[in-house]
Formats: sequence, structure tokens, C-alpha cells
Amino acid sequence: MLLLKCPKCGQKMKYNSATPILTKKRKRCVYCGRFFKVTENIVKKV
Ligand SMILES: [Zn+2]
Repeated sequence: MLLLKCPKCGQKMKYNSATPILTKKRKRCVYCGRFFKVTENIVKKV
């Protein structure tokens, strides 16, 4: 499980990846709906 931070709204959310390969993976922000790259917005591993 990873903790991600949205670059647009700054909200943090958990991300449970099905694969350890996160390159080019994108996540949709649950708060503002923006898609962002997972690898560039990891806060920490939880
Ligand atoms: Zn957001």
C-alpha cells in the first residue's frame, strides 16, 4: 500500500497496487478527479 498525494488539490489517498511495477501507472484522484502519475507522487509506503 502506498500513500499518494494529488499534485493538484494536495489531498492524500491510499493506493493499493496489484503489481509492484508502478512505472507509467496512473491514479485518479478521489477528491478532484485528476489523473496523475503514481511514481512521481508517492508520499510514503504504508
Ligand atoms: Zn486531487
